[in-house]
Amino acid sequence: MELFYSSTRDKAEKVTASQAILQGLAQDGGLYVPSYIPALSVDMDVLKDMSYQETAYEVMSRFLTDFSEKELKDCIAAAYDEKFDTKAIAPLKKAGEAYYLELFHGATIAFKDMALSILPHLMTTAAKKNQAKGEIVILTATSGDTGKAALAGFADVPGTRIIVFYPKNGVSPVQEKQMVTQKGANTYVVGIHGNFDDAQTGVKKLFGDKALNEELKEAGFRFSSANSINIGRLVPQIVYYVYAYAKLYGAGTLKKGEAMNVVVPTGNFGNILAAYYAKEMGVPIGKLICASNENKVLYDFFRTGSYDRNREFVLTTSPSMDILISSNLERLIYKIAGADDAKDAAFMKELSEKGVYTISPEMKEKLTDFYGNYASEEETAAEIARLYKEADYVIDTHTAVASAVYRKYRQETGDEAVTVIASTASPYKFARSVMDAIDKKYDVLDDFGLVDELSRISGTAVPKAVEELRTAPVLHDTVVEKDEMKSIVKKILNVK
Ligand SMILES: *Cc1c(COP(=O)(O)O)cnc(C)c1O
Repeated sequence: MELFYSSTRDKAEKVTASQAILQGLAQDGGLYVPSYIPALSVDMDVLKDMSYQETAYEVMSRFLTDFSEKELKDCIAAAYDEKFDTKAIAPLKKAGEAYYLELFHGATIAFKDMALSILPHLMTTAAKKNQAKGEIVILTATSGDTGKAALAGFADVPGTRIIVFYPKNGVSPVQEKQMVTQKGANTYVVGIHGNFDDAQTGVKKLFGDKALNEELKEAGFRFSSANSINIGRLVPQIVYYVYAYAKLYGAGTLKKGEAMNVVVPTGNFGNILAAYYAKEMGVPIGKLICASNENKVLYDFFRTGSYDRNREFVLTTSPSMDILISSNLERLIYKIAGADDAKDAAFMKELSEKGVYTISPEMKEKLTDFYGNYASEEETAAEIARLYKEADYVIDTHTAVASAVYRKYRQETGDEAVTVIASTASPYKFARSVMDAIDKKYDVLDDFGLVDELSRISGTAVPKAVEELRTAPVLHDTVVEKDEMKSIVKKILNVK
């Protein structure tokens, strides 16, 4: 059966994988979903001995069916190379009662690298396949980590430019410094006075602006998206869940077919959706534990069946999860609505007009694979301190949200199944919050003083990505109002 992608809001809008990657968002504002979830075609007994790159091919080739074997293998080889500081690419560390799947060994020390190091290669390959004309302009809204990872991925890739919007006061100092020091003649970084949702809504508007798209086309450009709505982001993220299971099976930690729980610190719902797709592919995943910070829209949704974004936006120490509209949830909504595009479109209309929608009891019944909970700021900090003291392992704030939620889950259910926690950022990226959580006395240190102290107490080397920041010059200093996003894009591209 041929696999294709269709919009969650209009099934008639069908494209190939490469076209979906090029386009990012469907024309009607919906998200592309695969026509079915393919099964893994290799046995765990084979997978257990495979490298990350080999596993990536086995998983991705099932979804990206119009890429040739050579095309896909070239993309994989170009992405998962020495940019990662470990051959394992995504190593597992046991600490306390769980396994931490470290997804932060790439160029920008956060999990976004897992997908964004391959996306530019998938995209330029897709452009060639489709004889797409015009320079690709990547437009991205970021809550911190995506921006830098996308910039690093696309910098100086021929035939592309990248414009990143970030909330001026909504990212960590290290995250901001990482972005504004980005090199590459085709990179642009713009701060906006607003929060992440403002940035994301603004970018979505630009994508949907027909007149603007027409003007760009005439000037020789075409928009594309590197946000986690792009299936070229989603599919590479399925890989590490398959890989984690295979490695735990290979080590004898899991018996064949034994269930493994997965805990994911969640923002836009991309990472946990990838875990869900891994489960649908046949990986024996038990519970999908969705962890939120104090922006707990998803926790409330799993509990009540109502998705309600009408609430105060909280700035937390896990800024990459400070999100009130989890875009990728739409793909799950579509699925539990029985692949009903009209129903999905109606929910999304309600969300955009009223900020809230409620699923039916039948749909809610299909969510039993998921467990949602959240961790407060105090609980998050306490978890960092606990794990450091009890297991001598330092985790970042996002991972700590997941770790704290896992403890709640275990206490509530008594479920002691082998559990993997997605560890989404290096503690060095959020050094102040992490060190504060361990001991308030560190607060007097400056940013790099904290980094050095973190290195000392954890016995880990300062990652190259942080080391470089000590001396990097600021190359981007544009800040605009949230209603000026369109004009700044035109100015950057020199379109009248
Ligand atoms: C992006 C991000 C998340 C949230 O991932 P989603 O796929 O948006 O749910 C969690 N932690 C970190 C460090 C991130 O960068």
